[in-house]
Amino acid sequence: MRIADMLVGGRPTVSFEFMAPRDESEVDALEKTIAALAGHAPDWVSVTYRKATGDKTLELVTRIKRQYHIEAMAHLTCANTADETRRILNWMEREGVANVLALRGDPPGPGAPFQPTDPQLMHGSDLVSLIRGSGYRFGIGAACSAEKHPESPDLDHELRYMQLKVESGADFLITQLFFDNRFYFDLVRRASESGVELPIVPGLMPVPSRRSLAFMTSMAGATVPAGLESEIAAAADDEAVRAAGVRHCIAQCVELLEAGVPGLHFYTFNRARAPMEILAALRGQQLLTA
Ligand code: FAD
Repeated sequence: MRIADMLVGGRPTVSFEFMAPRDESEVDALEKTIAALAGHAPDWVSVTYRKATGDKTLELVTRIKRQYHIEAMAHLTCANTADETRRILNWMEREGVANVLALRGDPPGPGAPFQPTDPQLMHGSDLVSLIRGSGYRFGIGAACSAEKHPESPDLDHELRYMQLKVESGADFLITQLFFDNRFYFDLVRRASESGVELPIVPGLMPVPSRRSLAFMTSMAGATVPAGLESEIAAAADDEAVRAAGVRHCIAQCVELLEAGVPGLHFYTFNRARAPMEILAALRGQQLLTA
């Protein structure tokens, strides 16, 4: 089923992002996480893509669909040539993948430039165009930033290229992580004023650890509000950091649900505990149905 159709169903969807395993040592933990979170009946899930582990992404997406009967979206980036990309898309189509998240892909590290593989695939919008223009019937998601993307000069630049993704054929958007809902509300308002009416799903990260927070905020360009920053600074140990992250994420979700968001998308980092605690709190407040 197309995710875009679920997002206009009148009830906020719950979705989880899993990271494709980089090697065998990550497989067990990921399998346990998927099994645990599948038990919480997500509306859909997604699996990240890296060129080196592309086969794992595709294997995982098709297996989640078959084994758990959950709609699973494959991420795909501009890491391949246009011809290789079409071969991957053909394979996905044959295997029954219904939704693709079309991305440019991460640069090699914070501050480093993105290395294109094919001049036809320089940006997320190019991949959206390739998929739509080649006649595939996938539902297409694309990324956007609630705060300024680290490579963007300003938010207008960001908005212009977000519009291009929509014009190129994206059906819905998922934001990069953010910790202050004002950025998301501002993005939705600015998008609507410029004629973008597609569902924009907020991407949420319960802080996994101090180290991951530092890395992710530098890659994503997200800022940490002073209140959360001081809670994390004062946390006695990793468990206290995690608990502060969960509390903050619950407060974000409550406000987002009350504002009528189309869904909540959780960056899980392949850990089930934080999303499970957040969902339990939201269901306890009757903000989500069980
Ligand atoms: P783009 O849209 O290409 O944007 C990158 C920068 O270029 C922005 O500053 C934008 O404003 C600018 N820009 C866009 N189009 C143009 C244009 N035509 N001309 C000039 N400037 C332009 N990365 C992975 O490697 N694998 C994953 O699986 C993955 N999953 C993700 C899932 C989500 C929900 C999100 C939000 C991000 C994910 N990422 C992933 C990270 C993503 O690849 C990076 O955030 C990347 O920096 C931006 O991707 P994009 O598709 O938005 O790029």
